[in-house]
Amino acid sequence: MAITAVGSVAFDTVETPAGRRERCLAGAATYFSLSASFFTDVRVIAVVGEDFGAKEQAVFDARKVDTTGIQHAPGKSFYWEGSYLENLNEAKTHATELNVFAGFEPKIPPDYHDSQFLFLANIDPVLQRRVREAMPQAKLVGGDTMNYWIKDHKPALLEVLKGLDVLLINDTETRMLTGSRSIALAAGKIFEMGPKILVVKHGEYGATAFFAQTKENNAEDVAKRAFHVPALPLEEVVDPTGAGDSFAGGFFGYLASQKELTPKAFRYAMFYGSVMGSFVVERFGTDRLQQLTREEIDHRFSLFRELTHLD
Ligand code: AMP
Repeated sequence: MAITAVGSVAFDTVETPAGRRERCLAGAATYFSLSASFFTDVRVIAVVGEDFGAKEQAVFDARKVDTTGIQHAPGKSFYWEGSYLENLNEAKTHATELNVFAGFEPKIPPDYHDSQFLFLANIDPVLQRRVREAMPQAKLVGGDTMNYWIKDHKPALLEVLKGLDVLLINDTETRMLTGSRSIALAAGKIFEMGPKILVVKHGEYGATAFFAQTKENNAEDVAKRAFHVPALPLEEVVDPTGAGDSFAGGFFGYLASQKELTPKAFRYAMFYGSVMGSFVVERFGTDRLQQLTREEIDHRFSLFRELTHLD
């Protein structure tokens, strides 16, 4: 089943202990769609400027990502600059230039309307909401955001949350959004905002999914309400940018490839999310995703199994 994703398609300048990379093709929707494309058909909605040329387009084409919904506008693409010199788990933002995204009016190509999965990757919550409203048929809607939007655009973000089934954010964002220090407590607050599943990403420490209480999983049974997946203990993280979006791509891509969304499918999705996050950080930008193969993904999935199995 196909996934439609809206989010930033950008150029990033990134500095990490491993070095500096200027203006590489990036953006939340780029990482998400390249990652999810290993599991299912992906369609993107975004806007790019005149700096997005044939070289950048080829990256999407190589993974057969449908870019009919990427508009081309006069001006520059979204630009982000950040560094991870003190903490590899958290980017320090030096510049965010919305550029062509400032006047973006998302248009959904007719072919996208049968997408059963919708992912609202990180971008202005006003745009996320417009796309959500234009695609009411989606059966599973996921979303992401970041401190930038939580801090100054909270009312618009709260509107987006009402339309989400799954929210994927990191620990700091979880605390910022809810004002709660405990993420288990924060999960309860987030369920009241709309999502039924919260996936909290802990960078190099993995990710935890929280499932809202239903008749099947009662409050006492924590193992039915939460599930944890580790991250791969890598000796060197070259560039952590995009780990969250690639995790989301693996998570959603895997779910979209399944016949039924069972609790087991969600647990496997957590593992595929972590697998995809573990690849992207091995090189700068989207380099690793561009060279990745399905065989490598399957091999790493088995490695994750071994890492976490008791018997
Ligand atoms: P991640 O590391 O997975 O959280 O996402 C990194 C990507 O998010 C980068 O490639 C940036 O271009 C993009 N990004 C950074 N700030 C924003 C923002 N305010 N809105 C949308 N995308 C952003």
